[in-house]
Amino acid sequence: MTTRQEILDWCDQTLQTDLFKDYAPNGLQVEGRNDVSKIITAVTASRAAIIYAAEQGADMLLVHHGMFWKSEPVTITGWKKERIATLLGHGINMAGYHLPLDAHPELGNNAQLAERMGWVREKQFGEQNLLNIGRLKTPQTLDELCADLRSRLGRAPTVVGSGERIISRIVWCTGGAQGFFQEAVEAGADAYITGEISEAQFHLANETGTAFIGAGHHATERYGIQALGEALACELGVETLFFDEQNPA
Ligand SMILES: [Zn+2]
Repeated sequence: MTTRQEILDWCDQTLQTDLFKDYAPNGLQVEGRNDVSKIITAVTASRAAIIYAAEQGADMLLVHHGMFWKSEPVTITGWKKERIATLLGHGINMAGYHLPLDAHPELGNNAQLAERMGWVREKQFGEQNLLNIGRLKTPQTLDELCADLRSRLGRAPTVVGSGERIISRIVWCTGGAQGFFQEAVEAGADAYITGEISEAQFHLANETGTAFIGAGHHATERYGIQALGEALACELGVETLFFDEQNPA
């Protein structure tokens, strides 16, 4: 039997959580029972993920997007009360790892996305090493790259750029990282790949010639938490199971 603390210590050490400045707590967010043998991993600590963890008799829900974001009200009412009540009622621990899980060089969302896509990563750069620069193994047109993303991630990306443009040098950051587009332009990328797009990136892509690809926040961030779960299963002998949700964003 593994204890909650052993799991949290291993995650903190592996992901080097103390090196990050984040806008949600990394680590334990809701305390459940002390002993942990079964963990459900999920992108987000949604009601559906919590109910699934309860149905599975899990001792911990381990996610990328926990709760208690800096910008949220601090009161525990409505949907947040429902989530927390279900966790507490079933003695389920809920732990979240946000930016440390984006940036980890092997288990992180960025590293895992590159592995799924077969991209060559040259280096991490930018704010808290969240951005990644590299290249496609073989240059592709923007249309071909987007078709590849669509088939591997199971979701059609939102694209701004000319479909025939040849893409070789790429910059990427999973999730809601549209705000880093300027860094990708300055790094000389042919295309920037992230999860979401906002209004401004449409114009920036048109005016700079750097293609913008919004491949899905959920779709691009599904892999880090699974890799973390697999590593935990391997290192600490706990059972881990990934819960996926259909999320269009
Ligand atoms: Zn995210």
